[in-house]
Amino acid sequence: MSYYLKNNTLDKNILFIIGTRPELIKMFPIINYLKCAGNKSFRVVSTGQHKELLRPYWKVFNIKPDYELNIIKKGQSLSSLTARAIVAIDKLLLGLTNQFFPEVIVAQGDTTTVMASSMVAFYHNIKFAHVEAGLRSGDMLNPFPEEFNRKVAGITASYHFAPTMIAKKNLMKESVEEKDIHVVGNTVVDTLHYFKNSSILDKHQFARKELLGVKGMVLVTCHRRENHLYLDELIDAIDILSNQNSKLTFVWPVHPNPSVKGHVLSSKIAKKENVILTPPLEYLDLLKVISNAKVIISDSGGIQEEAPSFNVPVLILRESTERPEAVNIGFSKLVGMSKDSIVNSFYNFKIHNTKNLMNPYGDGNSSSRIIKIINHE
Ligand code: UDP
Repeated sequence: MSYYLKNNTLDKNILFIIGTRPELIKMFPIINYLKCAGNKSFRVVSTGQHKELLRPYWKVFNIKPDYELNIIKKGQSLSSLTARAIVAIDKLLLGLTNQFFPEVIVAQGDTTTVMASSMVAFYHNIKFAHVEAGLRSGDMLNPFPEEFNRKVAGITASYHFAPTMIAKKNLMKESVEEKDIHVVGNTVVDTLHYFKNSSILDKHQFARKELLGVKGMVLVTCHRRENHLYLDELIDAIDILSNQNSKLTFVWPVHPNPSVKGHVLSSKIAKKENVILTPPLEYLDLLKVISNAKVIISDSGGIQEEAPSFNVPVLILRESTERPEAVNIGFSKLVGMSKDSIVNSFYNFKIHNTKNLMNPYGDGNSSSRIIKIINHE
């Protein structure tokens, strides 16, 4: 099959639905690909799942949502969030009938936004395209509720855009038809290539002044629900490592989730000279920290995928990962949330043979593959 956009036009109307930070980061290159090709047959929805966190990102990526929903209500349960997301997306579609009606709904990842989008697409008999399909930890409670969300999305999807062969195999084990699975790589690599291969990242000066001039960084992030109870183990580990490595600076952008933020900011590491606790970093600051880091200690999915492009190893704060590719090639290590394991791995884990390492998650061309497949099938 030959893939190209005919006269730069899309054959199908596409609705992109985005809720959280990683979804916008990973959807950006697909939308940008269409924008650069002069396409106008798409609309972007923000469900507001990470409203505050996302505000600066829309600007960095130069995307303005066409529709803004409001699915978050203070103190609501996951069930209520799901219900509000389904109702809000459904209402939006019902109102769209006479203006722009999508033939394909595209959502990325494993959040409640994605699960709800896949269900509403099904009820409206609209094709659903799942980007980053087939990631599985094999444990429904870990990560919670993401493993469940992505499985649900996989039930209704017509297009399963799997980042890797492992993801494809996971889908085939669940009896998804091979013809509907497309191994395209992870779009997160497209996004970072966009900034890394242009002079944008090189020229970028840290927006957070406290990072200017810092040498020898270690990036720390932690936000997974399953880890909230064990934050003290990580705090103890960073306390020990920062005492023993006075030439390194531990940079921890603290997730705004109240269970994480209050705990970390009032902890014993908050006032240490070589520990910098910041609010979430804007994307280019974050990429710059990764590119300067000696090592990363994190439970983030996206950061596991980004780090290999900068040859930086990740000590993964989890017992298992649905992104095993970097671990399998000896580039990252699962260390869990125990203080001893984090400290020991910090000293003992080394990547072998980093020269010419390809990022196992993608080659930076996933977005064009995705659009061409949607356009032709
Ligand atoms: N990220 C960011 N600023 C931060 C922390 C993370 O821009 O302070 C980016 C990071 O580069 C990655 C994405 O956010 O692309 C990952 O988001 P997160 O860790 O919240 O979610 P996950 O990937 O675990 O679902």
